[in-house]
Amino acid sequence: MSKVAKLPTAQPPSDLPTDIYRQAVDQADIGIAITDTAANILYTNDAFSRTTGYGKDEAQGRNQSMLSYKMTPARIYEEMWSSLQLGLSWHGRLLNRRKDGSPYLAELNITPVHETDGTVRHYLGMHRDVTAMHQLEQRVLNQKQLIESVIDAAPMAIALLDDKRKVVLDNHAYKKLVTDLGVPEPANLLLAALAESTTPGTCDGIDVRIDRSGGKPPRWFCCTTQMIEIHDESADGFFDRPRQPSLLLIASDITALHDEQEKARASALQAMLSEEEHAATLRESLSAALYQIEEPINVIASAVALMRGRGEGGVSAVLENAVAGARARIEELRGLLPVERGDAQNAELAVGVNLNEMVRDVLVIATPRLLATGITVDWRPEPVLPTLLGNPLRLRIALKTLIDNAIDAIAETRGQRLARREIAIATQGRRDVVLLTLDDSGPGIPAELRLKVFEPFFSAHGQAGRHLGTGLSRAQQIVGDHGGIIDILDAPRGGCRVRVELPTGRGAR
Ligand code: FAD
Repeated sequence: MSKVAKLPTAQPPSDLPTDIYRQAVDQADIGIAITDTAANILYTNDAFSRTTGYGKDEAQGRNQSMLSYKMTPARIYEEMWSSLQLGLSWHGRLLNRRKDGSPYLAELNITPVHETDGTVRHYLGMHRDVTAMHQLEQRVLNQKQLIESVIDAAPMAIALLDDKRKVVLDNHAYKKLVTDLGVPEPANLLLAALAESTTPGTCDGIDVRIDRSGGKPPRWFCCTTQMIEIHDESADGFFDRPRQPSLLLIASDITALHDEQEKARASALQAMLSEEEHAATLRESLSAALYQIEEPINVIASAVALMRGRGEGGVSAVLENAVAGARARIEELRGLLPVERGDAQNAELAVGVNLNEMVRDVLVIATPRLLATGITVDWRPEPVLPTLLGNPLRLRIALKTLIDNAIDAIAETRGQRLARREIAIATQGRRDVVLLTLDDSGPGIPAELRLKVFEPFFSAHGQAGRHLGTGLSRAQQIVGDHGGIIDILDAPRGGCRVRVELPTGRGAR
């Protein structure tokens, strides 16, 4: 209900006959009544009769309260009368009763008629039946409430985003994601993850992964998006009816389903990696043995060449045959070395991979060793990482080597008192590269050894026999095969930092 400011007294234009006013009011398509200041009716028009059912003669002399259905709260009448007594207009809705007793909702506008000296002796009341409009408003309101409660009760997160990607409507499940994912607008994170997994445009049932820091497992969502055109509500859009493109995002949490799949996948992966590790150990031991056998043979071959130079042909021919035979055996043995999985078909095995997913897989596999050595892991993944094109098994082997090295470096210092026993791993995505940093709180690698550690059979570890020193060279080979680089630096808090940079392949596209 509102009070309307006092209007200036209107003077009829001199060229307009006063009858015209009477006829205009008589024929106006809105119920009009003129009353005295006690609301006794002095005049009503035709539209008033049509709305109320009271003819002009029946209405005249009676009070406007004859229209009251006796259900309008008293405070509304009090507000109405205090406005009128102040000489102000009043506007509001009242529940009225027609002559036949049927109720209707009246929208009323009452204006005090100010005479030239300012006194008010009459009120002008205009009212129309707004029952149908009210029903329509209620229906829209009920439908809105129904839709909102259905959307709120839905287990999936629902958000409607405007053309500036601002969330304009959401549900409870979506609001819960704000706390779960620790971001103010989860929709942007989900849309970024979708952009990684699918081509731009609307999508239907695409699984996306959101990685979380602080040791929390990743969350998986099955996402569907749909473009919706919303009509402009402003007055200037009444005829044009311009539309705003909005995006409806529906995300179902499928983390539990993925967890089951992850467990099965992790144990299969563990079996595959340990098989590959055995093969690598065999390969490394045999390579080391062959390398050591080759050394004396090379010495003998040089001696034979010397003897031949001195003209001792007979002896040297026998030795030459022996050297050639030994080299042939070495080559045969080399041919028996177990082949590194995926090496040969490296190019064919390149698929879209997520570095976060691979780091987590390797951490799961390394958990027993981490627990046994009392090492904590600070895992800070970029929530949504660009996809890489690569060989998942070889990349996991490289990551496992780096994590195993970090564990070894800390474990070797078990005798010493370390302030921290920690491995910190972080990933970062750029448009064309993915970065991984792995810091350990071990003794670090001196600057002069940072190139040497990548040489085959070089081991910085004290435990002779456990390490053949081919791990880092293999990791470097794998990263290099993926077009990436691997560096060794000082970790900011002491210890060693390994920095891996892998191209996403987008820069070239
Ligand atoms: P009432 O006994 O009339 O009074 C209810 C409340 O209004 C009380 O608090 C009382 O103090 C106050 N009040 C009543 N008359 C006056 C007055 N003259 N001065 C100050 N305060 C007063 N009512 C409708 O229900 N439907 C209508 O369509 C309608 N149209 C109206 C059109 C005009 C131009 C005017 C001036 C009034 C209209 N009214 C209408 C109001 C109506 O006159 C009654 O006040 C109202 O219907 C309540 O009536 P009641 O018999 O239930 O209570």
